[in-house]
Amino acid sequence: MALVRLIYTSKTAPTFSGETLKQIIASSQVNNAKQFITGCLFFNQNHIIQYLEGGASQVNRLYNRIVTDKRHTEVQLMDYSWISKRLFAGWSMGYAADTAATRSIFVYYAEADSFNPANLSLDAALHLIKDLKDFAQPGTR
Ligand code: FAD
Repeated sequence: MALVRLIYTSKTAPTFSGETLKQIIASSQVNNAKQFITGCLFFNQNHIIQYLEGGASQVNRLYNRIVTDKRHTEVQLMDYSWISKRLFAGWSMGYAADTAATRSIFVYYAEADSFNPANLSLDAALHLIKDLKDFAQPGTR
């Protein structure tokens, strides 16, 4: 089975809250562990960047659900590639909160005050994700 990675960006819906986030993380950790999908979700103010990896059919099915989820908008695919190994092995769905520490990382990649990850090149996004990984909780199950 081909191993793929999928990276997308989006914006939180106006109704998005801390409770919404908890629900998403909790169900993602259960669902992803069952499908051997690993990855991490990152927030910067109202912007989201998510990195998913796993079998192509499992990742494709999940992305189809995510795209139609009304809890976020402006879902934009950044990358879909074959990979030889996982970056987040054992992380059913890691999560890095929007904190002063993570904002200090985003600043390195920002072209303006209102940083939008959708404007990043793939190379920059991969560096950002690797930097933010140190601030994320694995969410293993
Ligand atoms: P449940 O997990 O059982 O749903 C739990 C509760 O969440 C529901 O009772 C409902 O209150 C609420 N809910 C579910 N779907 C929606 C919806 N579309 N709109 C509003 N409320 C809803 N899912 C994963 O499995 N893995 C992921 O990595 C993942 N990442 C996500 C990242 C983002 C930014 C967002 C917005 C969603 C993500 N999701 C992820 C959720 C995904 O879009 C589906 O909602 C979920 O996979 C459905 O799983 P489920 O059928 O088990 O529903």
